[in-house]
Amino acid sequence: MKELKLYTCEFCGTNYSQKRVCEECEKSHLIAKKIKRQRYVPMKNNQKGHPISIDVQFDNGDIVTYKRG
Ligand SMILES: [Zn+2]
Repeated sequence: MKELKLYTCEFCGTNYSQKRVCEECEKSHLIAKKIKRQRYVPMKNNQKGHPISIDVQFDNGDIVTYKRG
């Protein structure tokens, strides 16, 4: 019987047999640091008041827009 050792990425949950590859996966995930901008529509169109999109800055400086589905 052979015992199998796996490493799990803390960010995406993927299992790897090689620790080095798992570490690469963890390093590939960017961390959201700050909301840079929030866009809204009039209250008659969105009574709950949540923004329809936000710009998020990541730890590497990238800014990405996320839109509500
Ligand atoms: Zn991962």
